[in-house]
Amino acid sequence: MPNLFETVKQSITLREVAEGYGFKVSHSGMIVCPFHEDKYPSMKLNEQCYYCFGCGAKGDVINFVARLFEIRNIEAAKKIAFDFNIACDGKALYTATVYKKRSVISQLEKQKETYTGQILTQYYRLLWEWEKEYSPKAIGDDMNPKFIEALQQMDYIEYLLDVLDGNDKEEKALLCNNPDIKRIEKHLMNLGVIKQKKEFNIEH
Ligand SMILES: [Zn+2]
Repeated sequence: MPNLFETVKQSITLREVAEGYGFKVSHSGMIVCPFHEDKYPSMKLNEQCYYCFGCGAKGDVINFVARLFEIRNIEAAKKIAFDFNIACDGKALYTATVYKKRSVISQLEKQKETYTGQILTQYYRLLWEWEKEYSPKAIGDDMNPKFIEALQQMDYIEYLLDVLDGNDKEEKALLCNNPDIKRIEKHLMNLGVIKQKKEFNIEH
């Protein structure tokens, strides 16, 4: 069995992979970092490795794809070979057509948007219930932390839901990668509202 990792790394550059997955790569190899809330391109793609000046993320092409699609390295290597028709040891182990540009990214974006919407809606509903249920019943009552949380968070969550409902694609994508979403997801898991983290899958 030839080494898939090495073959993949030698067969394709980070720029080619990033472009294949719909990133706009500048002349000097800069892209908007997918791993932090990045407004302007702060990630530099070299031939074999990437580095983000914003969040410090770095790695090779396999690691890039693994993080991007939230899959393991071996799956990422197979995916690259599959998506870009890389032959391993003279044989195309993973024959398949190359994705149309952006189709993969937009699938992933759609899934993330839907999921982010679910998370935010569930949290909002909870806050709404808390605000009613735990409001102080008499003057001088201590304020229940859940009531305080509802007061503090409801406007913000409403705002996020508005963004998600809007038409600004860039703003929506930023929202889906906003660390607050992960924080809320974890919070809901701890509260037992949701069972487990969602894995995103791309259908071929
Ligand atoms: Zn970054």
